[in-house]
Amino acid sequence: MPFKIDMHVHTCYSKDGLTTPRDLINQLRKIGLNGAAITDHDTIEGVEKMLKSHNDDLLIIPGIETSTKSGHILGINITTPIPKGLDIKEAIERIHDAGGIAIAAHPQAPFKDCVKLNSKIIDLGLDAIEVVNSSFFPFLPLIYLSKKFAVRYRMPQTAGSDSHIPETIGLAYTIIENDEASVDDVIEAIRKGLTIPFGKGIPLMLRIKKIWNLSANSSTC
Ligand SMILES: [Zn+2]
Ligand SMILES: [Zn+2]
Repeated sequence: MPFKIDMHVHTCYSKDGLTTPRDLINQLRKIGLNGAAITDHDTIEGVEKMLKSHNDDLLIIPGIETSTKSGHILGINITTPIPKGLDIKEAIERIHDAGGIAIAAHPQAPFKDCVKLNSKIIDLGLDAIEVVNSSFFPFLPLIYLSKKFAVRYRMPQTAGSDSHIPETIGLAYTIIENDEASVDDVIEAIRKGLTIPFGKGIPLMLRIKKIWNLSANSSTC
């Protein structure tokens, strides 16, 4: 059985996230995913909480989604906060110094704060491109562009749901051809480009539900 991880999930420790750590664990078990990377906006508070809880049947990968001057970057396998507002190159260097890998989050997405896919980003030190993000809109054209770019520049590819509510967790995930995998195995597979990005877009009703829930509830854990 391939190993499936949602590489981009927000918890209620993100200002715009409503998923509690308990919701996240329950949802991963319900849908049969092997794990998820916790990538809250500019904080690792949720990561610290999650790593203290014991859920040995699931792989919880610590991470962050850092807001750089040039867009959002996922820092995966880090337990050190990366300050927001850094120059993108410095943010990537700090992620590497912290032992992690840096992934361009939802590149080229018109309604999001993101890096644009052009040759200038190749020398920044990025380790991978998130070619499938369930919040992409329009979904298929953005996947097409991202994959084309990744293939052209031989960049490893990942997928994640970018969930802010429990119901959308696992809509996209990264597949690794191992029965079992540790965090180091996942990082190694991404670095070597041995991953298969997979997933679908967030259905319109769940996009509306996220906006509705966020306006009705403040994000508290
Ligand atoms: Zn983002
Ligand atoms: Zn995100």
